[in-house]
Amino acid sequence: MAHPKTEQTLVIVKPDGIQRALIGEIMKRYERLGLKLVALKMLVPTEAMIEQHYLLDPDWKKNVGEKAIASYEKKGETPPSKDPIAVADLVVARLKKYMTSGPVIAMVWEGAHAVELVRKITGGTEPRSAGVGTIRGDFVLDSYQMADGDERAIRNLIHASGSVPEARKEIPHWFSPAEITSYRAPHEATLYDADISSILA
Ligand code: GDP
Ligand code: MG
Repeated sequence: MAHPKTEQTLVIVKPDGIQRALIGEIMKRYERLGLKLVALKMLVPTEAMIEQHYLLDPDWKKNVGEKAIASYEKKGETPPSKDPIAVADLVVARLKKYMTSGPVIAMVWEGAHAVELVRKITGGTEPRSAGVGTIRGDFVLDSYQMADGDERAIRNLIHASGSVPEARKEIPHWFSPAEITSYRAPHEATLYDADISSILA
């Protein structure tokens, strides 16, 4: 079995993250944890790339549709449809507009529990209710209420893979194998070596 330190996850700084000049702030959070950046590029995604990205996981539509319906009901409003798939189609259309509106930065971060830890630091989907100390909780204030009212996607600065299987599908969607670099970083010895008795001279 591969060592846990080889786990990789996809992070995308969304167009609002670039516009808000938060690139360095966002990258710092993952870097200081001990994760290693192994791929990075800036691009303006096409609508096809975004649609394919969100449809890589066959369950994503159902999950996001159910989540969206629950958020309408929580506000005491009627959802645009009772069918989660139909609601998800609406979210996809809005995401295509949002994610192609400007440059994004796609990255691959590597390290033990990379998927889970990046999600923890990134915070929940809705910035309004995302935890204090998380990137989405600390640096932006968007809500389902405002996004749905304006018929747009939630602006939450970042995409981060939701699970290891999701990451395994998303990374090759954004990067060719040649764009991902395998290298050693000195701090990995302190994070991962079973024996650190060689520190003293
Ligand atoms: P994430 O993994 O936390 O980014 O959330 P999802 O994978 O469930 O949704 C993908 C993206 O779609 C989110 O980051 C939001 O930008 C947007 N989104 C998801 N659900 C909704 C919703 O109910 N309403 C609106 N307006 N946007 C949503
Ligand atoms: Mg997701």
